[in-house]
Amino acid sequence: MCGIVGYIGDKRASEVIIKGLKRLEYRGYDSAGIAYHNGTLEIKKGKGKVAKLEQMLEGGNSAKLGIGHTRWATHGEPNDINSHPHTSSSGKLALVHNGIIENYASLKKMLEGNGCEFYSETDTEVVAKLIESLLEKDPKDLKKAVQLALAQIDGTYGLAIIHTDFPEQIVVARKGSPLLIGVGNGEMLIASDASAVAEYTDQVVYLDDGEVAVIKKDEYQVHTLDDDSLIKEVHELALSLEEIEKGGYPFFMLKEIFEQPKAISDCLRGRLNAKEGTITLGGISRVMEQLTDAKRLIIAACGTSWHSGIVGEYLFESLLKIPVEVEYASELRYKESLIGEGDVMIVVSQSGETADTLAALRRARKNGALVIGVVNVVGSSIARETDAGVYIHAGPEIGVASTKAFTAQVTVLTLMAIQLAQYKGTISDEKARKLISELDSIPKKMQQVLDKSSELDQVSDLFSYAPNFLYLGRSFGFPVALEGALKLKEISYIHAEGYPAAEMKHGPIALIDEMMPVVVIAGTRHTNDKMVSNIEEVKARKGRIISIVTEGNEEVENLSEFSFSVPEVADELSPLLTVIPLQILSYNIAVNRGCNVDQPRNLAKSVTVE
Ligand code: GLU
Repeated sequence: MCGIVGYIGDKRASEVIIKGLKRLEYRGYDSAGIAYHNGTLEIKKGKGKVAKLEQMLEGGNSAKLGIGHTRWATHGEPNDINSHPHTSSSGKLALVHNGIIENYASLKKMLEGNGCEFYSETDTEVVAKLIESLLEKDPKDLKKAVQLALAQIDGTYGLAIIHTDFPEQIVVARKGSPLLIGVGNGEMLIASDASAVAEYTDQVVYLDDGEVAVIKKDEYQVHTLDDDSLIKEVHELALSLEEIEKGGYPFFMLKEIFEQPKAISDCLRGRLNAKEGTITLGGISRVMEQLTDAKRLIIAACGTSWHSGIVGEYLFESLLKIPVEVEYASELRYKESLIGEGDVMIVVSQSGETADTLAALRRARKNGALVIGVVNVVGSSIARETDAGVYIHAGPEIGVASTKAFTAQVTVLTLMAIQLAQYKGTISDEKARKLISELDSIPKKMQQVLDKSSELDQVSDLFSYAPNFLYLGRSFGFPVALEGALKLKEISYIHAEGYPAAEMKHGPIALIDEMMPVVVIAGTRHTNDKMVSNIEEVKARKGRIISIVTEGNEEVENLSEFSFSVPEVADELSPLLTVIPLQILSYNIAVNRGCNVDQPRNLAKSVTVE
């Protein structure tokens, strides 16, 4: 959440920063702001999108150093005053912040006691005021003042600070919120994620928690909070500009939905050998023994990744015969900790920065569990802090509503389940070969689904103004029902609930009337008869059935007001296909309702606060 960009070099800083903020806007978009200096400090900021900020900058400036921010408010409503950057009392220091200062109230009281006046409702403003008060004691060393201030701060931060008395440096710091340095030739950038720097450099340094860096045009120095100097590894970015642009699509989400055949091919490449019937996931090869000997597996995740986790649960339990618990990371991190040695935790996160998931993984590792990551963003915190892991290789996902990351996460969990089951001997050779060969054909089948996506236009139009939706699934269709409902809620603001089909009788059935669209995911063979009964129950109460079926399921088709078929596939792999029409249905409905699909209200991608 929140995007930070900074620049120091020979280019016009505000241009580089605005471009970077646009790329990071998916991380937060309730307000935007920029600070730059050319001797005096200039700040432009306000509620609204980066495009509005860009207009404020018209007329130009020649500053070669600056910092910018897109906000996702935690403390104080999104308005002009609360927007970042925030300034110190002298007006010489400006800073941008991603995260939450948990002890801001007591710090504020202390600073107010010393005569400091505050103008905003944010937690962030105390950091600016605190640094300045410490700088007064040693006015020559901005880094030191930052280090001393951070020693008093509880909470999480990615911070970038500029000061007119230090016209050739940006000071940055990180704890819990991502921050990287883009190392250029005679210029340096800082950003919350690599998409903001990719246009200028492919050399990046990822800051770790507890690190402070001084960034100059030609050099950077990284230190600990106690001022020990650190040598950091420089990583090479493998990110093309094409991947982070819309490429002719009206929204990133639609581009990403249509990229799924490619994302899954990329995810399978070099890992799955259909001819030999083998799977090789290099990232977990040295922990196979520990994984297959585990007493239980705990899958920890949030949001859409939690839904992939449920698919993982069904896969691991049926193929690997190890009990699995799927936990919301936000709950797990504060529960009595019973996870320890002998347990294996799998953490699933697109961004690799999800604050709760990161905290859950740290706690599990501390208690002696083996932690495996299933992550998209290479070099992200979760990827770096897990014992082992498998990248999903879906490519950058920018639409706030996750699509290709979901199917790629499910693909990785499927690969893991099959490979581990083969290793442990809990899957027959015949079944493994069948699943592997079917997995190999998933990208082709996804393409077939996408090719006929216009079949969903009519039903999307018909139900665009329904106030509620119910999604029902059984077995592998249940997590898909959850995911379908979440997609609709996120981007169209229609209330939707996903339920195990039979659970409907324990509550939601009371909601069903002739106005209620009920989406049933009937892609699994072994629960089909039961699903048919649930459909009858809905119909008996005049609910409107929209079904997602596998080709040839005439029984369900005939019971439905509208039906969309996906190619025949093993039950275990069905989520990879049945979720696609649900993504498209949500997308169409959101567009019909005039919603901003890529930037739904109140949401942001990469949830780096608890
Ligand atoms: N807590 C800060 C605020 O509410 C920063 C939020 C963010 O990460 O965008 O302003």
